[in-house]
Amino acid sequence: MQDTVRFIGHFIGGAAGEEKGARAGDVYDPATGEITGSVAFADGEAVDRAVDDASRAFESWRHVPVSKRASVMFAFRELLLSRKQDLARMISSEHGKVVADAVGEIDRGIEVVEFACGIGQLLKGDFSENVSRGVDTYSIRQPLGVVAGITPFNFPAMVPMWMFPIAIACGNTFVLKPSERDPSAPNFLAELFIEAGLPPGVLNVVHGDKVAVDALLTHRDVAAVSSVGSTPVARHIYETGAANGKRVQALGGAKNHMVVMPDCDLEAAANALVSAGYGSTGQRCMAVSAVVAVGEAGDALIDRLRSKIEKLRVGPASDPDAEMGPLVSGEARDKVASFVDLGLDEGADLAVDGRGVKVEGNEEGFFLGPTLFDRVTPDMRIYQEEIFGPVLSVVRCDSLDEAIAIVNANPYGNGTAIFTANGNSARLFQNEVSVGMVGVNVPIPVPVAFYPFGGWKSSLFGDSHVYGPEGVRFYTRTKVVTSRWPEGEPSAGPNLSFPGSDR
Ligand code: NAD
Repeated sequence: MQDTVRFIGHFIGGAAGEEKGARAGDVYDPATGEITGSVAFADGEAVDRAVDDASRAFESWRHVPVSKRASVMFAFRELLLSRKQDLARMISSEHGKVVADAVGEIDRGIEVVEFACGIGQLLKGDFSENVSRGVDTYSIRQPLGVVAGITPFNFPAMVPMWMFPIAIACGNTFVLKPSERDPSAPNFLAELFIEAGLPPGVLNVVHGDKVAVDALLTHRDVAAVSSVGSTPVARHIYETGAANGKRVQALGGAKNHMVVMPDCDLEAAANALVSAGYGSTGQRCMAVSAVVAVGEAGDALIDRLRSKIEKLRVGPASDPDAEMGPLVSGEARDKVASFVDLGLDEGADLAVDGRGVKVEGNEEGFFLGPTLFDRVTPDMRIYQEEIFGPVLSVVRCDSLDEAIAIVNANPYGNGTAIFTANGNSARLFQNEVSVGMVGVNVPIPVPVAFYPFGGWKSSLFGDSHVYGPEGVRFYTRTKVVTSRWPEGEPSAGPNLSFPGSDR
């Protein structure tokens, strides 16, 4: 354990608190295996305080002019740009990802802040003049109140920023419950937002585990919940939140397939697979974990992948040449290693074994090297389950139709990609595949901020994807006003028939 263990408290009312509470969790530096922090775990009382504070803040924030709300977003964006390196190092120190990768996630989060800067345009309603004689109808979008966000460890800055900039720009106040494994970045985001001019209470952060999540899901004053995490947790959040009358969008786990056609540029496909399979040590919801190699693509791909994987540099974020960091925890490393054992038991060919990796000077870190399985079949557990680590499984098949059938039979439907030189193959794939986000010669098709992000099937519970115009709709409700201003007309007296327009 380090000599100084930092305490990370709940961020309520504009500052992080010092109160320790009854429960806390350890925070690790995954590159060294040392405990570097202690994070407060909220109970119902702490959640009540955060929600009550956010409810009070809502009463004034909802009346702040939309142009002022946008100007706070602009200031927040500037601070994110100027403090990007500090934020990236903070993410690396608790998540383990290399700094360049942490910068990438911040940049994708900033995109959403930039989208929220245009909130004036996004909140415009419709107006119809003279829907009946002297009658106008118009629609307005109003905020919901206090909304909550529950986020995973793998993007401690980007995933919260998928949610709170849009929710807050729409006039809501927000209570964030980030992952307990890397809690410092979310507090830092809240600090920067306050520095940008956000009033205290508009963004509160409570830390903790299931206790905090369940307190939010059952809280009377939480109007809506956005969550991102594993599928069992997403299902629980969706069902509990909905049963308690909340609007819920709950994004779950993934098993993303990349279909490689024999006509594609195989060198480009292999490079894309190494980047998308092993970037962030495979701990991305859009990581490619299953490769469907069609026809003769299989052998050529395996040879290329093997030689590229052997050149990858595994190391801590403090090594500027490191390309792949550790897993987030010792438990995660052991779980991924156990899947490698399982794959061997199930009869897959282990083409590259990452289990023996040693990082000099970081022997206690949670490292596991990139691993490649060939000849994996859909009945194997290593194919069916989300491993969430640096393990790529190659499944072989004979045709595009077969490849599409394999992708569609999988219970997850987050992202997928096809690499091909044939427009018809790409078009067929795009039309037929049961997946929410599709890449054509693009391995990680995370949509830009003005399109929505979301999967299908077991990768998302709820009706709405996150951010983009769907984010604005999720965080607002529509009110339609029918209005008449009679001037000097005598009232015609009561009329009990159903009112219609003047035809
Ligand atoms: P997780 O499901 O363990 O945790 C997610 C959040 O839920 C955390 O805040 C955690 O504290 C809370 N939580 C954990 N267990 C809970 C329980 N039993 N009841 C209520 N709340 C609980 O996920 P993780 O390990 O932090 O993140 C990795 C997972 O997230 C992977 O499955 C990954 O695919 C998924 N993910 C999905 C997307 C997407 O876009 N679909 C994006 C990022 C991550």
